[in-house]
Amino acid sequence: MWGIIATWRMALEGVSGAARMLVEGESAGDAVEAAVRKVEDFPYYKSVGFGGLPNAEGDVELDAGFMDGDTLAFGSVGALKDFANPVSIARALSQTTANCVLMGEGAEKYAARQGFERKTMLTDRARIRYMNRLKTDGGTAIHTDLKPYAGHDTVGMVCLDAKGTIASATSTSGLFMKRPGRIGDSPICGAGLYADSCRGGATVTGLGEDCMRGCISYEVVRLMGEGLRPQEACEQAVAALDEKLRRVRGSAGDLSIVAMNAQGAWGAATNIDGFSFVVATEELAPVVYVAERQGSHTVYQPATKAWLDEYMTARTAPVELI
Ligand code: ASP
Repeated sequence: MWGIIATWRMALEGVSGAARMLVEGESAGDAVEAAVRKVEDFPYYKSVGFGGLPNAEGDVELDAGFMDGDTLAFGSVGALKDFANPVSIARALSQTTANCVLMGEGAEKYAARQGFERKTMLTDRARIRYMNRLKTDGGTAIHTDLKPYAGHDTVGMVCLDAKGTIASATSTSGLFMKRPGRIGDSPICGAGLYADSCRGGATVTGLGEDCMRGCISYEVVRLMGEGLRPQEACEQAVAALDEKLRRVRGSAGDLSIVAMNAQGAWGAATNIDGFSFVVATEELAPVVYVAERQGSHTVYQPATKAWLDEYMTARTAPVELI
């Protein structure tokens, strides 16, 4: 059995390519890296890789992580500027024995030494959105009240190959107008992603600070290890963290998670409406689902053609200076 599950509609093309690789017997690590790179390279997604929105000073700072569930090897980069494919740098770091989590300048020096492709990641569209934001709120509000903006979409994926290896990976430009140097959950092992080939893998998108508070990806994998099916594990972990955050902090940020276990069963849960995710398995051609919260449960259905059309139209619509 092979399978792959990923956060947001943006993963569809990458997941479709990965599915073809998995049919050919390629590894979960290669498939998931290729799938995330596809998202990083697409200029119209404003929250991952090329085209990602900048921080409060106008710089695009990227976070990415990679985990191999056979060996628990983990690598990540944070606040990385101007490299085309952060996920590949994270994966290379996962193959080193120490110093496998690098941020900022250290990550950039490593990537340059290893010959990773440099690229100016700020696009004209992203610059216009930044200028517009400065005009509307002076760019200051988000410093103290960091919230996922409409269209915040970290890509996170969990992949199981025919040999039983699970790998997970994430990539994001983080939240728009974040403080320079801010790291979200995506490059943090156990928060943004986790993989253990014996139990399963999970990855999350949402308000990074809250995702970290619950080590939520690890929590889902832990629950799957206790015998919960991925859907139950995702729902239980999201409901518990959402409830705890509301109780002790007065509010909970967006939390949306996807998971797959060692048998290729999968699940997804969210505390928002309109969370989309993509799944492909040996038995299921790539499908986009749209999920919504119903109490402590999550329900989802395949995206309609109208929803899919609107998604792309919104992302590729012209952006103009206000
Ligand atoms: N979790 C990401 C972050 O906080 C944002 C997202 O998932 O869209 O950086």
